[in-house]
Amino acid sequence: MISSDTASLLRSIPAMDDLLSAPWAAEFSGALGRDTVKKIIEDALGEIRREISGGANTGANSTAQANAPIEDLVKNRAESLLRSKSSSTLKQVVNATGVVIHTNLGRAPLSGAALAAVNGIAGAYSTLEYDPESGGRGGRNAHTEWSLCRITGAEAALVVNNNAAAVLLALSAMAAGKEVIVSAGELVEIGDSFRIPEILSFSGAKMVAVGCTNSTRIKDYGDAITENTAVLLKVHPSNYRVEGFVKSVTRRELSDLAALRGLVLMEDLGSGLLNPLNVPFANREHSVGGCLREGSGIVTFSGDKLLGGPQIGVIAGSKKLIDKMKKHQLLRALRVDKMTLAAFEATLRLYLSGRNNEIPVLRMIETDKSVLLERARRLCRILKRAGLGGRHASGRTAYADLDISVVQTEDAIGGGSFPTDVLHGYGVAISSRSVPPSAIAARLRSAAVPVIPAIHDGRVILHVRTLLSGDEKLIAAALEQADDTGTKLDEAGRVASDVRVYL
Ligand SMILES: *Cc1c(COP(=O)(O)O)cnc(C)c1O
Repeated sequence: MISSDTASLLRSIPAMDDLLSAPWAAEFSGALGRDTVKKIIEDALGEIRREISGGANTGANSTAQANAPIEDLVKNRAESLLRSKSSSTLKQVVNATGVVIHTNLGRAPLSGAALAAVNGIAGAYSTLEYDPESGGRGGRNAHTEWSLCRITGAEAALVVNNNAAAVLLALSAMAAGKEVIVSAGELVEIGDSFRIPEILSFSGAKMVAVGCTNSTRIKDYGDAITENTAVLLKVHPSNYRVEGFVKSVTRRELSDLAALRGLVLMEDLGSGLLNPLNVPFANREHSVGGCLREGSGIVTFSGDKLLGGPQIGVIAGSKKLIDKMKKHQLLRALRVDKMTLAAFEATLRLYLSGRNNEIPVLRMIETDKSVLLERARRLCRILKRAGLGGRHASGRTAYADLDISVVQTEDAIGGGSFPTDVLHGYGVAISSRSVPPSAIAARLRSAAVPVIPAIHDGRVILHVRTLLSGDEKLIAAALEQADDTGTKLDEAGRVASDVRVYL
C-alpha cells in the first residue's frame, strides 16, 4: 500500500523531456550522445523511484522529506552518474609515492622517443609484417630482435605480450609433458595472479620443487633429475627476500649441472636490467647479459620494469631453443601489437646509442639527492605561493592550518626490483591539525588529474623523485581545487561527496 506522501513524491519527479533539456544534462550530450544521456537519467530515476516506494528509511525518501526538492535529488544522482560515465576511467595521475616502477600506476612511463615512435606508427599503415625490400611478408619479431641481441649478447630473442607470457611460452615449448626442477625457495607469486606453480602447470610441464624455503643445494637439483627432466628453472625472488640462514645455488653451479646433464637452464629474471644501475646497491642485481654470460640458456624479463619501456615480455638466449618457440602455436595468442613494438624498438635504440638517461625510469632512479632537494624546495614554494599553508587569497582561512615543509624521504625502485633497498630522496610533507592525512590524501586523489601521495608518520608526503615535468602544477591545482569541490573521506576510507571540509 503506497501512502499518499509517497505517491505525491513519485508524481513530483520531473518529466524526462524536461530533465533532458536541463542545462546540466544537455551538457553531456556532446560526450555521450543524447540517447545515452537519456538511458543514464532513466537509470537514476529508476533507482530513486525504487527507493521512494521502498519506504521511509531510504535515503531518497528521507532526503526528500528533509525538504530537498525532488528535482535536486534527481539532478544530483543523474549528474554524478553522467560525470563518471563521460570521463575515462583510464587517465593520467601524478605519482607522488616515490615508488618508481609502480605496478598499479602503469609501471614505466615512456620516453619521448618511444612516444614519438608510437605516434608515427599508430595512425598509419606500417611495415609491421612487411618487408619493403622484397615486397613480401616480414616478421613482427624482426623489429626488435637484432637490438635485443646486440644489447644483451643473446643469440636470439623473441617478444610477447608480457613476461608472464614469456615464461608460459618458453616452458610450453621446452617442457610440456616433461619435468621442470625449481627450488622451493623460488615458488614466487607476483602481483596477485602470477604464480610459478600455476604457470608451470598451465604450460603442461610437471613441477618438481626441491630443497627448502631458505635452503637449496646443488645436490638437491642433481638428485631430482630423471630422464624426463627438461629444464632447471631459476626464478628471481622479485618482491621478497629471505633473511637469516639462507643457502641458494649460484647460476654457475646450475649452468654447469645443466650442461653436464644435457638440460636447459632457464631463468625468469622479472625485471630486465640491461645495464648496471648507478646506485649504491647496484651489484645486487645481474644484467640480462650477465646472466646469459654466466650460463643461463634462456632468460625471460619484462619490458616495463627496470628496462623502462612498454609492457612486453622478452625471451632471450639460445637460438635453437628460441627457434622452437617461434614456431609454437601459443605465440599467435601472445603476440605483440604494433604500438608496443614501436615503443619498444625506440626504447632499445636509446640503449644502443647510450642515451639511457632519456628513459624516465632510469633517470628517476639515478637522480642525484641534491637535485631532488632542489625540486622539493621548489614544490614547497609553489604550494605555499598558491596560497596554501597560509591565508588563502580569497580571504578564507580555510587553508590556514596546513603545514607544508620539505622532508627527507625513503623512495623505492618497485616493480619487484631491489625489494628491500631504499633510495634516499626528498619530498614535501603536508599536515593539518584539523584534517586527518587520509582526508587530505583523498582530496588529492579526487582531483581532475588525481595526485597519488604517500602517507607516513601521520603526514601526507609528496615524493618528488617520481614527479614528471608539469606535475608540480597539477599538484597545486589538486590542492586548490580540493577547497572548491568539497570532498571528505568517510570512516570507511571512501570519498563521500557533498560533505564540505575545508583544508
Ligand atoms: C614481474 C615478474 C613477472 C611478471 O612479469 P609481467 O611482465 O608483469 O607479466 C614474472 N616473473 C618475475 C620474477 C617477475 O618479477
